[in-house]
Amino acid sequence: MARDYYELLGVDRGASKDEVKQAYRKLARKYHPDVNKDDGAEELFKEINLAYEVLSDDDKRARYDRFGEAGVSGAAGGGVGGFDAQGFGDIFEAFGSIFGGGGGGRSSRGPVRGDDLRLDLSLSFMEAAFGCEKEVTFDHLESCKTCKGSGAKTGTGPVTCRTCNGQGQVRQAARTPFGVFTQVTTCPTCQGAGQTIQDPCTTCNGRGRQVVQRTTQVTIPPGVDEGNRLRVTGEGNAGLKGGSPGDLYIDLVLQSHPVFKRNGMDLSSEVTISYLQAIFGAKVMVPVLELDQKEQEVEIPPGTQPETVLTLRGKGIPRLNNLTRRGDHYLTIKVAIPTKLSGEERELLEKLVKIRSEKVKKDGGFLSGLFSKE
Ligand SMILES: [Zn+2]
Ligand SMILES: [Zn+2]
Repeated sequence: MARDYYELLGVDRGASKDEVKQAYRKLARKYHPDVNKDDGAEELFKEINLAYEVLSDDDKRARYDRFGEAGVSGAAGGGVGGFDAQGFGDIFEAFGSIFGGGGGGRSSRGPVRGDDLRLDLSLSFMEAAFGCEKEVTFDHLESCKTCKGSGAKTGTGPVTCRTCNGQGQVRQAARTPFGVFTQVTTCPTCQGAGQTIQDPCTTCNGRGRQVVQRTTQVTIPPGVDEGNRLRVTGEGNAGLKGGSPGDLYIDLVLQSHPVFKRNGMDLSSEVTISYLQAIFGAKVMVPVLELDQKEQEVEIPPGTQPETVLTLRGKGIPRLNNLTRRGDHYLTIKVAIPTKLSGEERELLEKLVKIRSEKVKKDGGFLSGLFSKE
């Protein structure tokens, strides 16, 4: 799968243009092939440039967000001006041929695999813990049914491209942030195919693919966590020229729970008991994470201190794909101190103060002597 452009530049999906630019400059300086001879640096530099090319342009960025790479590559998006995806790659292919390396250069004449797509899916706390079936709706490119993906009107076929004489590539000078390069770029007329369609299919305007809204059912296994990514094979964009379709990647976003907090497979929550329950011990009902049960009785031992943590073993989140192995549930005990007392309660408590000869504040002043033993 091609890397996500935002990930490549290390910016959020909501990053401003300035943030994108800054991130790009930093990375480009680091990985420019003139300064970085590490394995893979050159490849990364190309990817970084491509990511910047797209994310720095509002229009391309919007299409990328919606359709993934298909939205910004010449073959599918349409109307992408200037420097396209293949452009930067070919700087290095041109260098390669000068120095006798590589040779050949890439050709997009064969089958092209469809792009992968990505979407976020929000899950409730319980859905993530125990798994569920979810319906997702998204747009992707499907092979045009009228022309069966060829892009040509029924009964016609593609002809040799006149711009590049079927080579798929043309030479041109390109301006980059590092100077002007003479480069061999993909032919802008045929997008490297070497052939053009004279009589385009009217259904897809010659593109061979169309945007189709898809709804599909996905199975979320139990135990998934925030940031987990599911792959739905073949639900990305359709390929070109008989290429296989891309995949759909679903990034899971977990909603928080009003009572439970999650830490991997473990769960934590709080329960508040009265000071009398803390002193004498008690049995209290506490919320637990179960599909068929909302609460469970828990025994608070006598003399329980505030912030004591009780462990409910095996009551946490199931391990991924395994409902029988579960983490633990940590229950923090909070002790409520009453702020209002009835007359009788106050009398009894004052008696206690006296018995324990403690210094307390009463009616706004310290009356330590009042309750002390003489
Ligand atoms: Zn068509
Ligand atoms: Zn051409």
